[in-house]
Amino acid sequence: MDQKVEHSKQVIRDAIKKYWPRIAIACSFGKDSMIVTHLAKQIKPDIKVFSVMTKFKPRETFEYLKMMNKQMNLNVTVYMVADRVPDVLKDDGIEVVLLSSERFNKIFSENEKKTGKKLYENLPDECCRLLKVEPTKEAVKDLDAWICGLRNTEGRTRADFKEIEKKGGLVKINPILVWTEADVWRYMAINNIPAHPWYANGYRSLGCEPCSNPGGVLERDGRWKNTSKCGGECGIHTQILK
Ligand code: SF4
Repeated sequence: MDQKVEHSKQVIRDAIKKYWPRIAIACSFGKDSMIVTHLAKQIKPDIKVFSVMTKFKPRETFEYLKMMNKQMNLNVTVYMVADRVPDVLKDDGIEVVLLSSERFNKIFSENEKKTGKKLYENLPDECCRLLKVEPTKEAVKDLDAWICGLRNTEGRTRADFKEIEKKGGLVKINPILVWTEADVWRYMAINNIPAHPWYANGYRSLGCEPCSNPGGVLERDGRWKNTSKCGGECGIHTQILK
């Protein structure tokens, strides 16, 4: 465990040295994001932290974001497709970049009228593209590198990711790639990092409320359950972002 922590810190240190100041942490406020954020803040306390939120994230995620932003002094910038900042997110220490929701609302209501289904039920890739991938592109547009909490053992789609990935004009650093789920919980406990409350309800991977479910053989099995995207990816780790 100590060796893994030291290795992850060295990966972050090297990346910061190479890409500063055009580097940031992507934090979803899931357990893995909290680890990389905690590690990186020890190395560079003023490193930028951004988060892509959607209106479908559970209220507890916004509350947890707000709490951890204060506790870890993150100064997080939130990118979100929305008409206004949700009340639950209003806080002096949080900058919210609102991205127009006109196109999303139009596609969402047209799809519902046509099929009787919510966009995340029958076209989750499109929903994720509009609410997650496009906002992430906005968040990374001025960066050369970003640091993520991605891990190989989370799910079938993550087994082949590498510690450093170059895609398009952006480098992705995955410092805790080889950590296990048990390593993550151990680090959280040792460092007194509170966890998002949904983990206590059996969730192993957290996303938007309609697309997250507890349990599963692999951590990501509860994501997009009963859709073609089950256990898969929202697209930010598979598509070219810049
Ligand atoms: S996780 Fe679900 S609700 Fe969230 S953006 Fe993707 S499809 Fe939409």
